[in-house]
Amino acid sequence: RASHGKLPRYPGLERYTLLEKMGDGAFSNVYRARDDSGQWGEVAIKVVRKYEMNNSQGQDVLHPDIKGATKTVERSNILKEVQIMRQLNHPNIVKLIDFTESKQYYFIVLELSPGGELFHQIVRLTYFSEDLSRHVIIQVAKALEYLHEDAGVVHRDIKPENLLFYPVPFIPTKNPKPKNPDEEDKEDEGEFIKGVGAGGIGVIKIADFGLSKVIWDSQTMTPCGTVGYTAPEIVKDERYSKSVDMWALGCVLYTLLCGFPPFYDESIQTLTEKVAKGQYTFLSPWWDDISAGAKDLVRHLLTVDPDERYDIKHFLEHPWIAQSEGPPSAKA
Ligand code: ADP
Ligand code: MG
Repeated sequence: RASHGKLPRYPGLERYTLLEKMGDGAFSNVYRARDDSGQWGEVAIKVVRKYEMNNSQGQDVLHPDIKGATKTVERSNILKEVQIMRQLNHPNIVKLIDFTESKQYYFIVLELSPGGELFHQIVRLTYFSEDLSRHVIIQVAKALEYLHEDAGVVHRDIKPENLLFYPVPFIPTKNPKPKNPDEEDKEDEGEFIKGVGAGGIGVIKIADFGLSKVIWDSQTMTPCGTVGYTAPEIVKDERYSKSVDMWALGCVLYTLLCGFPPFYDESIQTLTEKVAKGQYTFLSPWWDDISAGAKDLVRHLLTVDPDERYDIKHFLEHPWIAQSEGPPSAKA
């Protein structure tokens, strides 16, 4: 993961020294960096390019005055992402530290989540034990509870690439549940489960508020004006927008438990149909040994009718979740 190539220098970002590239996107790069003023220590900086060339001539210098350069993202979208993050304060959500811009870039300075993406841990371990899955998903759910119930925000892009973590020192050598029972090594498995925070995963942090949205809430009476004049389809829409995150939470939980997503097809059209109908299975043999409780919870999240789908309160009260002693304290 370490980047060996030379790191760029961005005018306007002199306060920070870039240390390593952590993420790569179409229009953004994320770097681990050090705040040389000493105030913030190590941070993550999301550098978003403002313009791209249409007539891809391999030019490096992109500028609004150069012909053929077009905006990569609407300014208002970046400002919204920053504005929303600014309001948030939760141990399971990446904190916004600073926001600046230069002629060519936006710089979003974020709390560093040194473990990187949960996605890579799923790839590394193939899939998670039920205990580790619970350890992870409860933290995601706590963040969603805060977003939905307190902050009035829907994330709308919950997926393993946007779930980051702080590592804990304990790193197991083996998958917790070997697929071949003959290879089972009781000692190693025991150690793994003892070290909840196992898999090296400690505190989970939700990142990437690029698609998030402030929702209208009848209780807190945020945005959207006078409640009494709001049309029913708007009220309904806002309610459904929370359930979008719950569906995604179900997809993440499914993926943690077995190592592959609930909906997949090479053809986008077929995939779309499968999702629309909620066509997924607990595929054998991968799901054979997974508890009925875990499956029941997944079923309640991957429910096509948003009115029937579990909301965050239902989720946290489900026996499979409630049976835990709770996540280790999130102090990172
Ligand atoms: P995009 O809109 O391009 O998906 P993200 O905000 O999701 O932008 O960042 C892209 C990637 O950069 C993430 O998937 C992750 O790998 C890495 N990243 C983002 N924020 C952080 C952070 N605070 N700490 C560590 N890595 C991060
Ligand atoms: Mg992302």
